[in-house]
Amino acid sequence: MVILKLEDLDFSYNKSRTLKEISFTLEGGGLLGIVGPNGSGKTTLLKCINNLLTPDSGEITVKGEKMSELGGRDLARKLGFVPQTEEPVFPSTVFDLVLTGRTPHSSWKPSSDDLTVVSDVLKDLGLEELALRDVNSLSGGQFRKVLIARGFAQEPELLLLDEPMASLDLRHQLEVLNTLRGWLTESRGAAVTFHDLNLAAKYCDELLILKDGEVFARGGPEILTREVIEPVYGVEVEVSKATVRPSITPIRPLAGG
Ligand code: ADP
Repeated sequence: MVILKLEDLDFSYNKSRTLKEISFTLEGGGLLGIVGPNGSGKTTLLKCINNLLTPDSGEITVKGEKMSELGGRDLARKLGFVPQTEEPVFPSTVFDLVLTGRTPHSSWKPSSDDLTVVSDVLKDLGLEELALRDVNSLSGGQFRKVLIARGFAQEPELLLLDEPMASLDLRHQLEVLNTLRGWLTESRGAAVTFHDLNLAAKYCDELLILKDGEVFARGGPEILTREVIEPVYGVEVEVSKATVRPSITPIRPLAGG
């Protein structure tokens, strides 16, 4: 089952063409890693998929439905978006904030199913002990995990996560990625932007490598070769293929990169 399909997507900020002819397909159960250097268009791409930005041309469908024609609860049941940053604004417990992820599924009163989903997500992400804390009292990394938990609790068909690993330590990174893998089913997919190529290689089924708003390469983790990484990032790397999934060691910036 195809979860997400992009066909010839173009997007410009004012007159500056930022995404150029982006096409790809994500199958159910799949985790798509979107990688590329700063400014290559990763966040812009997620915002186009999420209807926050309107593409100049091209089509985005989630399970066959055009994103441009969806809104409100229909959109929120289809798609969840965890942005890079979001400030806590009003006092709320961790539990209650994660529970707001259930809004697209609930009536005015949360059901016992909603409460169970939230409890399970908090447990999977190791957030149980923080459940009754005010979100304003959390560290940056803890708060980030809570936002990710809210995305999981929303149970959309497609979950978009923008650099979820930023500000998380190693243990929290693995907890989030393992929870994400466990969360995926044949009828769901996720697209995640990554800076860490090793984590992307280890956890993703598909990678989309962006350079200057274009797809430079696309495929399984095996596409992370020296020939691809060096021109995209302007960095000399060593790539070990001792394991099925490549392991990348950055060496030095390339001259003129
Ligand atoms: P990435 O997520 O890969 O770092 P972005 O999608 O944030 O890249 O940015 C892609 C390009 O679009 C960059 O050149 C950036 O400066 C530009 N850009 C991002 N947001 C805006 C904006 N709101 N207005 C104008 N240009 C923007």
